[in-house]
Amino acid sequence: MDFPLPDSTLYVDTPVHFDLPRRINRLGKLAYNMWWTWHPEALRLFLQIDRDLWEKTYHNPIAFLQQASRVQLNAVTQNRYYLESYDRVFSTFDRYLKADGSWFRTTYPDLAGKTIAYFSMEFGMHEILPIYAGGLGVLSGDHLKEASDLGLPLVGVGFLYTHGYFSQRITEDGWQEARPFELNVDEAPVRPVMMENGQPLEVSVHLPQRDVKLRVWQVLVGRVPLYLLDSRVPGNTPADQNLTTRLYSGNPEVRISQEILLGIGGLRALRALGYSPSVWHMNEGHSAFLALERTRELVEQGIPFQRALEMVRVNNVFTTHTPVPAGNDEFPTWLIDKYFADLWPQLGISRDEFMDLARCERHWGEAFSMPVLAIRLSEHCNAVSELHGHVTRKMWHFLWPNRKVDDVPITHITNGIHTSTWLARRLHLLFDRYLGDGWLEKADDPQIWERINDIPDAELWAVRLHLKRKLVLYATEKARRQWMHDGIHPVQVIASGVLLDPYALTIGFARRFAPYKRANLVLRDFDRLLRILNKANMPVQIIFAGKSHPDNEPGKLLIQEVYRAVKKAENGGRLVFLEDYDMNLARYMVQGVDVWLNTPRRPNEASGTSGQKAALNGVLNFSVLDGWWREGYNGRNGWAIGEDVDPVDPAVQDEADARDLYDTLENEIVPLYYKERSGSGLPTEWIARMKEAIRTLGPQFSTRRMLKEYTQLYLTGLKDTEGESAGSS
Ligand SMILES: *Cc1c(COP(=O)(O)O)cnc(C)c1O
Repeated sequence: MDFPLPDSTLYVDTPVHFDLPRRINRLGKLAYNMWWTWHPEALRLFLQIDRDLWEKTYHNPIAFLQQASRVQLNAVTQNRYYLESYDRVFSTFDRYLKADGSWFRTTYPDLAGKTIAYFSMEFGMHEILPIYAGGLGVLSGDHLKEASDLGLPLVGVGFLYTHGYFSQRITEDGWQEARPFELNVDEAPVRPVMMENGQPLEVSVHLPQRDVKLRVWQVLVGRVPLYLLDSRVPGNTPADQNLTTRLYSGNPEVRISQEILLGIGGLRALRALGYSPSVWHMNEGHSAFLALERTRELVEQGIPFQRALEMVRVNNVFTTHTPVPAGNDEFPTWLIDKYFADLWPQLGISRDEFMDLARCERHWGEAFSMPVLAIRLSEHCNAVSELHGHVTRKMWHFLWPNRKVDDVPITHITNGIHTSTWLARRLHLLFDRYLGDGWLEKADDPQIWERINDIPDAELWAVRLHLKRKLVLYATEKARRQWMHDGIHPVQVIASGVLLDPYALTIGFARRFAPYKRANLVLRDFDRLLRILNKANMPVQIIFAGKSHPDNEPGKLLIQEVYRAVKKAENGGRLVFLEDYDMNLARYMVQGVDVWLNTPRRPNEASGTSGQKAALNGVLNFSVLDGWWREGYNGRNGWAIGEDVDPVDPAVQDEADARDLYDTLENEIVPLYYKERSGSGLPTEWIARMKEAIRTLGPQFSTRRMLKEYTQLYLTGLKDTEGESAGSS
């Protein structure tokens, strides 16, 4: 076994056994470690066996190995190139798992035996495990991958949502339909944690009038284990079995129950597994109840409440992602009474003292605020971009009435992306050639990226064209399948991108359809947009994608507005909507388009990360100066929409931003792309901007830079020996 659990009486079961030729039988092990998702050569060990089946199983190696034909499996065992690649991959994989020379082990050799617990409501690592809804989840997934690469002793805690986030279909009239989705757990890269007696490990959490039992699954993310909680346990009521099956219920009772299961159940699961973490990182406030449970543990050991609170605080880290008060997670106090009345006597405090921990005044009354709870109980609190830091300090200033806003102790660590997850394979190969050996290990070092300028324009441009053709082909094939099998209307076939031109300037807009992201801003003056799209010899096309939460009516209306514009004949098939945005489609888009458009209403975009993925692939950002782009933009590596100022009246802002958007697109972006090309036929000025974007944004917005900054916050807890011994009872 690769990952012995800290409690050696437990083990991780592998229910699926593959029938593979002996020479390649380690593929079965590779299938159960997400490591393959960010190592293109490892991925290709599956794909090369049977490309069609690889697509048919939606890049799921477990389903793939179960269904692959013996003939094709045998065939690769006779292929010298395949076997060389196989041996190379496994020797890299084995070396990787040992972790000896990793950054953390070499920088902090004394701390390698500690544990950092990382809690998040969602994790996005790959499309085959759809336990994420959007940016927060993808960030958590990238956090785990980078922690693994750096050798941080981190473990993740989340939920195994078997009904994941829905699958999206759009009706002819542009209405989003949420198709139910059910994860086949037998084909997912998750394995149950078992007890010596062969029974699954269970932990129990008290909810009103009953105990809810949770099972624990393990996902391997390189060297990092992620534990997923699952309430589908015989003995739980059907309603309780459903508590962990879906993301983000609108029902407050379900919501508070989920958050109790995540914070308290997650902590108990880690204890049962034998971990005693030195750092507890809450990614967003959903898991903040864990801080209460930690306090209760100490009070139970006889430590007075105030002292226990201080001890718990020292090694809690809290990251907030929500720039607007309305977006924050909070509960009415009657719900807290219902769910926590048993707890305050156990803590030795009154109801009032308990409510004080998270009290927040709202126009409708008093709320129990999860971010307030997390802030009060964490030594380190951070926002996720510089501007978001300012906004967050202002928002929570009332918690420190005696301080100036700038002195509110909330810092910022700007988000980044996991470089090898988001970089196109062809570019990866190009970077291997020009950035030098081991460049990925130093992906946060700007020095390495200076060598981007050594890449010949023609080589970089050839890859760009290749990636755009790949995106166009993907859209066309998807449309063809739907036309043949799903009975869609002919106009929907066109809306799905069959008229896309692989040589036209292509703009991408893909993200959740939340109203503040203003997907319709680019449609505001539709006649002007049509003139830009259809200009002779300078065609422009825009590809939209994104889901709205099924309960969010304004989001669904926004999709409809965009879809109706997409269907109009006048745009000539140059406006396109691709259904069912997920990490797979995200990869095609951030790698395939020329320009990445982002139009949030400032300052609502805490950070944003999709533009970082695009920039890494040489796609130029064209965005409002909000979140990360306000820090990334330097005047030469993309374009800004609007000024670096706080919003005035939203209606005025929308008008001004739309005008600026059209002006820049029409006067700068389109002409630059189609500028009279020299003898080489290459758009050299455009390529210079691409290089500037990769060179400046690649290192700065990598998770490698981000995780090293988080490590500084983790050190307080990692070095605090008192808190640790008190925590592990
Ligand atoms: C990166 C990513 C996001 C986050 O995109 P933003 O533009 O930062 O909101 C959301 N969904 C998916 C599938 C992603 O890959």
